[in-house]
Amino acid sequence: VAEGGEVTYKKIQSKQIMGSIQLGIQHTVGSLASKPKRDLLMNDFWEMETISFPPDGSSITPAHHYSDFRFKVYAPIAFRYFRDLFGIAPDDFLMSMCASPLVELSNPGASGSIFYLTDDDEFIIKTVQKKECEFLQKLLPGYYMNLSQNPRTLLPKFFGLYCFHYNSKNVRLVAMNNLLPSDIKMHCKYDLKGSSFRRKASKAERQKASPTFKDLDFAEHHPNGIFLETDKYNALMRTIQRDCMVLESFQIMDYSLLVGIHNLDIAAKEKREERIRNARAKLQRKESAAQTASSNVHLDDDAPEADQNQLHAVASYASIPGTSGAALNRTRSMNRQRLVAHSTAMESITADMDVTLEEDEDVPAGGIPARSENDERLILYIGIIDILQSYRLEKKLEHTFKSILYNGDTVSVCRPSFYAKRFQDAMAKQVFKKTPTFPLKHSPSKR
Ligand code: ATP
Ligand code: CA
Ligand code: CA
Repeated sequence: VAEGGEVTYKKIQSKQIMGSIQLGIQHTVGSLASKPKRDLLMNDFWEMETISFPPDGSSITPAHHYSDFRFKVYAPIAFRYFRDLFGIAPDDFLMSMCASPLVELSNPGASGSIFYLTDDDEFIIKTVQKKECEFLQKLLPGYYMNLSQNPRTLLPKFFGLYCFHYNSKNVRLVAMNNLLPSDIKMHCKYDLKGSSFRRKASKAERQKASPTFKDLDFAEHHPNGIFLETDKYNALMRTIQRDCMVLESFQIMDYSLLVGIHNLDIAAKEKREERIRNARAKLQRKESAAQTASSNVHLDDDAPEADQNQLHAVASYASIPGTSGAALNRTRSMNRQRLVAHSTAMESITADMDVTLEEDEDVPAGGIPARSENDERLILYIGIIDILQSYRLEKKLEHTFKSILYNGDTVSVCRPSFYAKRFQDAMAKQVFKKTPTFPLKHSPSKR
């Protein structure tokens, strides 16, 4: 909620929340370092630790310029174990979470949660409701039993659960993996549930710079779905099926498949346009410099033609790889190894295709190659999100109520098994389609 330009949550300034949780996480990761690694025990799941952070500091906490607060860490040993399971070293987690200020994401869902992204793009911290927090605590042992049996999953990976207490208010936060690398432009983003009821992005959402569209928008944009090569389609469907089985076993519903689409053909076009724009700007700068330097030199009428030649020369210079610092940086981060193991979309669905075939600097790593019905080359970033709603806990009433008002089959809040089946069906039949192998690059004539 924005108040007078300041983003707040429960009337607490977002800045205070961000700074305080960084102090809290720093403390807990630091103090965990002195506790030796050991096997996980059942009571590790129920444990919690609360630390007070007086502004002047204490024997165990540093002084800080935020207001007095308390920080509660749920199941610290269990979460350390999960981070370890996904290859996250304590120092790396500390660096990701605390070395730089968090970035607040601007496109949260309808629930009013705030999302923070770590500066290195690895983790998302989401504020959750009390009942979601309680549900995650109960879910943890079983959930991680599933994840450790099968780390190839699109299910969210939780790396920490915290409660920031300030001014008699509680802000509960969960740290999880980020699905959408922010250095890769998502030309379109969808939050898909497999339901059609009210599943259209609001007008306000559609006006955002990077809106999250929903099922009905997807059906409109991709009436024939998105095409995947047979092996990838099969791997994806297998993963979705397994994941839905886990979710159903916990009576979870209302989750979504988040799908970020990077369109390689649009990206290439944007890149060409940018080069030409840069070349034009450069030429203009040169021109005005030349004009001021030699205002006494007579310029004759064939100058425009010379301009064109020069423009061309500059444009091709700009296209030499490695000539632009920005391009270099982008390439490096695009192909960077992710900190969290098994965390890219491709790694989530299969172990066979870990080595990304794309050495090409224009094809970002980690996504799943796909095609639109117009044969545009797409790279997909996907994962299941928002799984902390359990039918068992709260949905019974809502279902009866809504099913009286509407046709129960299309209401997105309904029985978990029905939800899971409809979700899988929609993904397998409407959203994704199977095609024979296609080359990653177009033949030039196809452009
Ligand atoms: P609601 O309950 O109203 O659906 P919410 O506050 O619970 O909303 P989510 O559904 O979890 O929020 O997520 C909202 C949006 O935030 C998603 O549509 C997506 O754009 C983004 N988002 C959520 N989780 C992630 C993630 N792990 N990685 C990247 N983006 C995410
Ligand atoms: Ca949601
Ligand atoms: Ca939610």
